[in-house]
Amino acid sequence: MNVFWGTKYIDSHAHAYEYEEEYLRKLERDFIILGVSDDLESSKKTLMLTEEFSFIKPCIGIHPWRIDVASRDALKQIEELIELMDKPCIGEVGLDKKFTPNTYEAQMRTLQKFLSLAKETGAILNLHAAGAWEEVADLVMKFDITHAVFHWYTGPKDLMERLQEAGFYISFNVAALFQKKHSSLLPNVDLRRVLTESDGPYEYRGQKLLTENIPSLLKFMAKELKIDEGELKRILFENASRLFL
Ligand SMILES: [Zn+2]
Repeated sequence: MNVFWGTKYIDSHAHAYEYEEEYLRKLERDFIILGVSDDLESSKKTLMLTEEFSFIKPCIGIHPWRIDVASRDALKQIEELIELMDKPCIGEVGLDKKFTPNTYEAQMRTLQKFLSLAKETGAILNLHAAGAWEEVADLVMKFDITHAVFHWYTGPKDLMERLQEAGFYISFNVAALFQKKHSSLLPNVDLRRVLTESDGPYEYRGQKLLTENIPSLLKFMAKELKIDEGELKRILFENASRLFL
């Protein structure tokens, strides 16, 4: 029996609105993508895209790197769009002390708005927390959030365990294939609370990260975790189903 039957590869964090249509058509059959946005314009694009491609599930919001250029009106419009969503997902949102510490206070104000909206609507959060893992984790707990993905997790190991115990998902990026800081967390992961992602088409260490790299990541993870690849694929699909399908 083919254990791969009926399951698809999961990309729980990709900026799919940046992909060419032709590329999306190639992914359609084998993948499910949680497509994140960066600002108002890309949020609208993502919502439009998901009407055409049902394998993409939309997340909308303002990326912490875009906080400085996002207007108050843009935030308000995104909030209104979130309230209209069937299965609301807010992302990519969060805090970043590593790459954009200069806008930290504004990031904090915006994230708190998104968190209260998530609480109110039951939305899933697709979270960015570079250099601010503890801070984002504290806020998510404080706002009593129930559904969240911590994207490309590179925070402390004990925090990862606490987050998973609290029911949150940790998502491993295709960069784990060459980023030791990321892959070294794999042995401690709770399989019921893990997802895979690309952050495509982001470029990292000279390499373009893409959804199509997910099968290689899955193979690598299966080896590291000493588990059958088909079984891992099934578990990831189940995790995604529980969270957003
Ligand atoms: Zn991203």
